Amino acid sequence: MSTVGPVRPPRPDERLRQIIDRLADGVVVVGGDGLVRFVNPAAQVLFGRGAAELLGREFGFPTLAGETTEIDVVRPGGATAAAELRAVETEWEGEPAYIVSLRDVTDRREAEERRRQAEAEQAARRDAESEARRARFLSNVSSVLSSSLDYHATLSVLAKLAVPELADWCVIDVLEEDGRMARVAAAHAEHEREPLLAVLCDEFPPRMDGPSVGAQALRSGTPVYVPRVSDEWLEGVTTGPEHAALIRALGIRSLIAVPLVARTETLGVATLVGATRGYRRNDLATAEDFAQRAALSISNARLYAAAQEASRAKSEFLAVMSHELRTPLNAVMGYADLLQAGIGGAVSERQRGYLDRIKEGARHLEGIIDEILAFSRMEAGQEAVRARRVDLRDVVRQAGDLLRPLARQKSLELELRLPPEPAIVETDPEKVLQILRNLGTNAIKFTDQGQVRIEALRDHPHHLLRIVDTGIGIRREHRERIFEPFWQVEQSNRREVGGTGLGLAVARRLAELLGGRLTLESAPGRGSTFTLALPAADNPENGGDPSA
Ligand code: ADP
Repeated sequence: MSTVGPVRPPRPDERLRQIIDRLADGVVVVGGDGLVRFVNPAAQVLFGRGAAELLGREFGFPTLAGETTEIDVVRPGGATAAAELRAVETEWEGEPAYIVSLRDVTDRREAEERRRQAEAEQAARRDAESEARRARFLSNVSSVLSSSLDYHATLSVLAKLAVPELADWCVIDVLEEDGRMARVAAAHAEHEREPLLAVLCDEFPPRMDGPSVGAQALRSGTPVYVPRVSDEWLEGVTTGPEHAALIRALGIRSLIAVPLVARTETLGVATLVGATRGYRRNDLATAEDFAQRAALSISNARLYAAAQEASRAKSEFLAVMSHELRTPLNAVMGYADLLQAGIGGAVSERQRGYLDRIKEGARHLEGIIDEILAFSRMEAGQEAVRARRVDLRDVVRQAGDLLRPLARQKSLELELRLPPEPAIVETDPEKVLQILRNLGTNAIKFTDQGQVRIEALRDHPHHLLRIVDTGIGIRREHRERIFEPFWQVEQSNRREVGGTGLGLAVARRLAELLGGRLTLESAPGRGSTFTLALPAADNPENGGDPSA
């Protein structure tokens, strides 16, 4: 008799089972229907679930035979693990199935992650450091640039600054005003190679029509960037084997040539060479920044030089012109005097009147010429101070004598307000007189009613001279500008009042020349007060004699 029961499929043999159970790797058997048939203890640990929870359930991971995949396992409670999964087709209890082996790679993966993070941190730190260095470098560049207007000197400092920060060696060429290229700076990070660099500059000076990268960048106005220099390339940008050999001796691996462009004008080119370093894209950005700053310095220096030259030419012209005007003017005045004296024959009353008008006009012209001469002398630094002990009251009285006729013509009162005691100053009285005359003439010119007053007063440690008028006054926004040469306030009666616009410029410079100060207070419509402060001679601080 045979017992008919369910046919039990053969189970893996017990020894094999024991081996599988002790394996460090997880082993799962998945049936053709995707349900779990068997799990060893290592797999239970990996999934964080017991056999009861796993058996008969959906396995849920891909089981492609022969392929290794990495899977993420989420354990109950949320902890995660990573495993490497490998599946093999087999039979299990007579049915097709997969044996899936699972290796826990959580630790390895974490280690990898940590390494990646460390690397990223390191790279970030490197980037930050290089960014900080770059910023420091560029700020050094800026301070060098603002410290000098001599751009040749500035550019050689810049070249020195560029090595080794930005290049192992570099040269800077400028485009001269005659259209030629001129090398103005060169520097090598290795001191011993500087002589070699000097030879390169002497023997192979850059030419606008030459093959050099500098000339290329200059002609095109765009940077040349060569990450890796080849022999072939070097041949193309040199004038011959000797030239190339010299450059090789200086060291060349990578190169950037950036044109120096300011205000749309290409002024020169900086060629930066990496002997050992290879330039990358962000080096190009730094180089362009560097070039832009250098260009601005050249441009500023040139503008400044041009302005200086123009100003010098103007002063020279004024000086020459004033002299030339004086000679014929002297003739006009001299012959008018002769006529008036009756030396050329009898002169009628009417003719005498005309001669007065001629002389008046001539004196006016003379005044203007003197003003221009004084100004150009001062611009040229030729004005000398002849100082002596002076009682300012005497100078004020002299100024009063000069100005009284002008005041009378406009029916203005001219008052001198002087202290009873002497106002002693160690100064050049001619210059003080000229200041008073300029200020007094203005005061009368710009006052139609009331009074012009000159007063001397003490304001320790100074003596003050004040010219006070009750005229049109000066608006706040004009109070500094009126001291500029040739500057005048726009006004409707400009033609009547005339003037050169030099009076105040001369007065202020003379005041400074005398160690004093000229200041202004004014109320538009009510009048102005100009104050000249001069150091008192009886003030011990000024080295004077208190008993004087
Ligand atoms: P100028 O008198 O030859 O024009 P100045 O340098 O002496 O040149 O003066 C410059 C300008 O300042 C004058 O044109 C005038 O507009 C203004 N100014 C000078 N002094 C006075 C004043 N006392 N009152 C009003 N405006 C004045």
